[in-house]
Amino acid sequence: MTWSYATNFLCDRCSSEFSLSESLNTCPKCGGLLEVQYDLPKMKRELSPKMFASRDTSIWRWHEFYPLRDAANVISLGEGGTLLTPSIYAGPKLGLENLYFKNDTLMPTGSFKDRGFSLAISFAKELGIHRGLTYSSGNAGASFAAYAARAGIEATVLVEYLANPVKKATIGLYGATMATLHFENMTEITDMLEKGVKELGLYQFVNFINPVRHEAMKSYAYEISETLNWQAPDVMVHPVGTGGGIWGAWKGFCELHTLGWIEKLPKMVAVQPTATGPITRAFQSGLRKAERYGDSTKTIAQSIAGNAPIQGGERVMNAIYDSGGFAESVTDDEILEAMRWLGREGICAEPASAASLAAVKRAVVEGRIKPDERVVCVITGSGLKQSSAVQRAIPESMLRLDADYNQLAKLLVEIWGH
Ligand SMILES: *Cc1c(COP(=O)(O)O)cnc(C)c1O
Ligand SMILES: [Zn+2]
Repeated sequence: MTWSYATNFLCDRCSSEFSLSESLNTCPKCGGLLEVQYDLPKMKRELSPKMFASRDTSIWRWHEFYPLRDAANVISLGEGGTLLTPSIYAGPKLGLENLYFKNDTLMPTGSFKDRGFSLAISFAKELGIHRGLTYSSGNAGASFAAYAARAGIEATVLVEYLANPVKKATIGLYGATMATLHFENMTEITDMLEKGVKELGLYQFVNFINPVRHEAMKSYAYEISETLNWQAPDVMVHPVGTGGGIWGAWKGFCELHTLGWIEKLPKMVAVQPTATGPITRAFQSGLRKAERYGDSTKTIAQSIAGNAPIQGGERVMNAIYDSGGFAESVTDDEILEAMRWLGREGICAEPASAASLAAVKRAVVEGRIKPDERVVCVITGSGLKQSSAVQRAIPESMLRLDADYNQLAKLLVEIWGH
């Protein structure tokens, strides 16, 4: 049995190929982004969906689809295999018969970033890397720090000055060294890091500049398709920062389609806040390349507040256009309402995650999503790490009770009526 069917890195700009055992971030020849390639014809001959059914439910269930070569290097905290929960509140309210939530609030560090870091850190371990760097609005840093700790890799996290205190504390708790990162726009960060890769030989874990993190996001496609009896949903809605999540999921669906395991591909929908949202803006202007746009400080959706996409957001734009999908932007008020709706579903989501449900509401009103379409909203992260936003979503309106039986009886009549 072949443990991994990955063959090489391919530069998506100059088409150079590189071995998977080279420790690379971007293309050493032209600075383009690298993409892992697979022997899909061989996979088609040798693999079938049935073979996966009895395996454990972490993202490593699908190890053939990742570039790691040796199972001994796997660093896992039980990430992946999260529930695809049918909606009981938002769906009926919006007249959608088949709305689902992919609930990644259930991840080890509370966000979907754990999929990517389980793979990226395992892969770094296999390459013999001892230290690494990433920048983060909070969740990526926490995930990076946790997995690096398990692998014995020294983690340095540049945390955006806007990140909230709980996220920062979590990163520290997992033992990473932190520096608060100040900047005016995101291009300064990506330029700085790209130069670091070239000049200092840094190995870093920022999406896309690290060429394997998003490979693990393909696991969405595998998990969701398997749960739906090897059918893709009609619409897949994903909040977008760097775009690693939506791009990875799209690559996963495309692979399954090539293998003949699913018949149809989903429409990919990218969601960003109206205050920033370069991808949404590019889509609205019919462009394939996104320009810097908006102000990251003007939204509560911290995790998707980036105003400058890496290399023009080309991969995300391709996923949207090639899938026949679209991009939506949502306001903070719409996000807060979606957080309350998700609460009624038993899900406590952070603002960036609730943005996907807010976008579904908009898309239904605009007629872009039809009542009978099967829609999956990815709920990327838990609200517990951004508790200030949860408090904002639910303004305090507490009743009062002194510990006394007669008062209790009176209060319950007040609440429940008679
Ligand atoms: C990072 C993050 C996103 C955006 O993911 P990208 O892969 O950067 O597009 C969305 N939601 C949450 C909760 C995140 O932490
Ligand atoms: Zn190249």
